[in-house]
Amino acid sequence: MIVLAVDLGGSHATCALVAGTAILKQESFRLAPGASFGAVLPKIEVVLRRLLEQVPSGVDCRGIGFGFCGLVDPIQSRIVSTNGKYDDACDIDLNVWAHDRFGLALRLENDARLALLGECLAGAGAGSGDAVMMTLGTGVGGAAMIGGKLLHGKHFQAGCLGGHFVVNWRGRACTCGNRGCIEAEASGWSLPLLCREHPLFPSSALAAFSEINFEDLFRLAAQGDACAINIREECVEVWAAGCVTMIHAYDPDVLIVGGGVMKSADQVLPRLQAHVERYAWTPWGKVRVRAAELSDAAPLIGAVSLFERDSR
Ligand SMILES: [Zn+2]
Repeated sequence: MIVLAVDLGGSHATCALVAGTAILKQESFRLAPGASFGAVLPKIEVVLRRLLEQVPSGVDCRGIGFGFCGLVDPIQSRIVSTNGKYDDACDIDLNVWAHDRFGLALRLENDARLALLGECLAGAGAGSGDAVMMTLGTGVGGAAMIGGKLLHGKHFQAGCLGGHFVVNWRGRACTCGNRGCIEAEASGWSLPLLCREHPLFPSSALAAFSEINFEDLFRLAAQGDACAINIREECVEVWAAGCVTMIHAYDPDVLIVGGGVMKSADQVLPRLQAHVERYAWTPWGKVRVRAAELSDAAPLIGAVSLFERDSR
């Protein structure tokens, strides 16, 4: 089965022609900061037309599998909530767009759920129908699959808000309005706040950076910077606590960790696995903690299975 796949994130869009679990062609482009959904769609259309020309003759393209970085209703293929990005997206009917522009059916899903689908088809979760994913990046994302089906919930937010599990109820204010969420305590956006509040920060090499990210933090920690080591330890503990909560909430047999932080997987993953083995209450056995394997390809591969009825 050949499908056109779209993965729309906050800063990039990727379009691909996907057959089964193989990406035949792929094109990405950067989006202008603050671009509206209405402004991005024509650019996606141009790329999809180019990709359609590459469909082998005699083969039908099944449709467009669209991953979106917000809450979506996959039954109606409708964007429900956008959290500040693409505020016009809730008013645009993608079904009509796909039909009018391409004569194709459209399936819409949240991008983190598509990434989990992809990893379960051809990556770190292959062979498992009971998996959860936690992505550690600018924010902390999540998705859950139970019994081979993505978890959606009545309002389509089940499994997606793992980054807002509270790990410190007296903690830092979060963008969601709560306090002490995983994201507020250890994520790309909260990392500079953590650093500046740390008593060793003024004497740390971190103080020289105008923008602090996890790549620099892990590098300095590996070089022995005391402040960076302390903050790294704190963040890993927050994520580890989050992993246990994800496991208690969704009963998976594999927990997949993705996102930019996994560039330093050697400093993170063994600690998460050890914490999970010690603290997760799983009398049936041990949850495997795995690094995501497919990176940016995961949501594109996941988009194909939106057209297989049993994954909805
Ligand atoms: Zn929150």
